[in-house]
Parts: sequence; C-alpha cells; structure tokens
Amino acid sequence: MFKAGYVAVLGKPNSGKSTLINSMVGEKVSIVSWKPQTTRNAILGIVNGDDYQIVLIDTPGIHHSTKALSKFMMKSVEQAEQDGDIVIYLINGTKHLNSEEIKIITKLLSKHKVIVAVNKLDEASPEIFAENFAELAKLEGIVSLIPVSALKGTNLDVLTKEVLDLLPEGERFFDEDLYTNASMRFMAAEVIREKALRNLDKEIPYGIGVNILKFKLRDSGDMYDIEVEIYCEKKAHKGIIIGKGGEMLKKILSQSRCDIEKMTDCPVYMNAWVKVKPDWRENPLVLNELGYNDKNLK
Ligand code: GDP
Ligand code: MG
Repeated sequence: MFKAGYVAVLGKPNSGKSTLINSMVGEKVSIVSWKPQTTRNAILGIVNGDDYQIVLIDTPGIHHSTKALSKFMMKSVEQAEQDGDIVIYLINGTKHLNSEEIKIITKLLSKHKVIVAVNKLDEASPEIFAENFAELAKLEGIVSLIPVSALKGTNLDVLTKEVLDLLPEGERFFDEDLYTNASMRFMAAEVIREKALRNLDKEIPYGIGVNILKFKLRDSGDMYDIEVEIYCEKKAHKGIIIGKGGEMLKKILSQSRCDIEKMTDCPVYMNAWVKVKPDWRENPLVLNELGYNDKNLK
C-alpha cells in the first residue's frame, strides 16, 4: 500500500519550520533565517520513501498585521492549512507558550489532525520545555506531542512515523527525484534575500525585495546569466546594501552565486542593481512582480 499526502507545517515565525522541513527532506529546499517572516512564498519539501511520499508545505508563520505582504502571508497559511491533510504545529520550545498560541492550536484541532512538535530541545531550558509540554498535554485531541530538535535531527524519525500513521493511501503527487516544486528562479531570489538578510542583520529589517529580471542559460550551455533588482524602502538602506566601495553588495552576490551554482550545477554570471522603492511591500504591482501573488499559491 502506497501512502501520500500534504502536511502543512505551521507555527510562529522563528519556531523552526524551514529548518524542520530541510532536515526531514535532507536537502536544502527552503530559506532558513534567524529573522522571522523570511519565507514569503509557499515552498514544498518532499520526503520520498519506498512506500510513501510526504509533501511538506512551508509557511511564513501565523501572525497578524495589516501590511499587504503580511496579508499575503496569512493567505498562504490558510491555503497551506486547507491543502494539508495533516498539520504539524511547531512550537519554539525556548519560549513560554502564550495564550494566543494555545488559541491557534485549539482552533486547528477542531479541523485537522494535529501533531504538535516542541522544537529546539537542544537549546531550551528544561524547565520552560517541561512547562510548555505540560500545558500542551492538557489540550484534547492532539494526535501526538513530540519534543524535537529540527537543527540536530533529534526525534525526527518519530515525527515522520507519526505522520506516516496519519497519511492516507494514495499515489505520488510528484516525481520521486523532486525535492521541491519551487522554480529555480524563485529559489534564486530566496537565496539572494537570505544572504542579504544574513549579512545586513538588523540594519535593514524585512525591507528587501528581490526581483529576478533575467535567469537564462547561455546558448553555449555552459553559463547562466542572472540579472537582479534588489528593492529597499529607504535611500539610506541603499547605501548600506551597496556598502563602502560596493563591498557589501559584492559579498552578498558572491555568497549567493555559490549557492545558486550548486542549484544549477553550472557557473553563474550575476549582475545586480539596488533600487529604492518606498512602500514596495504595500504596492500590489510590485508584490505581483516579485511573485507574491495569490495565483502563485497553487
Ligand atoms: P521558521 O521561521 O519557523 O521557518 O524558522 P527557521 O527554520 O527559519 O528557524 C529560525 C531559527 O531557529 C534559525 O536560526 C534556526 O537555526 C533556529 N532553529 C531551528 N530549529 C532549531 C533547533 O532545533 N534548535 C536550535 N537550537 N535552533 C533551531
Ligand atoms: Mg521559514
């Protein structure tokens, strides 16, 4: 009997969803960042076994905000929730659970089969971890409650087994050799955004958009040409992204190039421009351009 199904991985920003998906798939499928809200588009991680296929849906985190981009994120969470036969709800075990999160889980429990994984077992204080665990154990209807470390891989075998128990009988959704459905172009934009956020740390919070203008294999077939626009919200940010003598931008691009070359398995030539677009996150046209479009959700 072959089993296959979608699993929505939900949880607050920073709980470790992308890390968990990467660990379960065993390939880099999604962007991992210490900054909340860096996964801005649904990315699928696909776990293939001899007699199963688990399709994990990465989501940007449940949170409330009025910004257009955040609205899109909320939508993609709802979409993921609808798509998922099963929900893995991930909790950041290093922090005390709050009532808002309990409410979210309770709501999910009324509609889905929910596995709750308490993450960051390796880092959390045993006291907080135990308190959270006790709090969650009071909730009725959780299929299973599992302490995990997405980073170290602890208990992920248990988690996978629990998912398999819930997974319906069915055919594969995707080719066996596919790890993710995200296009190379989209993945490249994600890589560049990740490198920018990592290098700039707290200097430019969230205000970066990456628009891939060109992503093309040369006719000779031995080199990709990539052209990129990086959007920021303020003039001062442009200077920070470019850096003294262009050093920062060079660093971001050379790190990105390394990762993209691994993806394409081919040398990459990359050119980038930094542009100031105030309120790009509020502008539907710009969001659309960057692929944050409702239509891309499915
Ligand atoms: P997301 O926003 O839920 O997708 O969270 P990420 O996967 O981007 O992870 C947020 C941060 O938590 C990153 O710095 C991860 O390295 C870190 N992280 C994720 N899982 C673990 C874990 O099991 N242990 C520890 N110590 N850190 C983790
Ligand atoms: Mg993420």
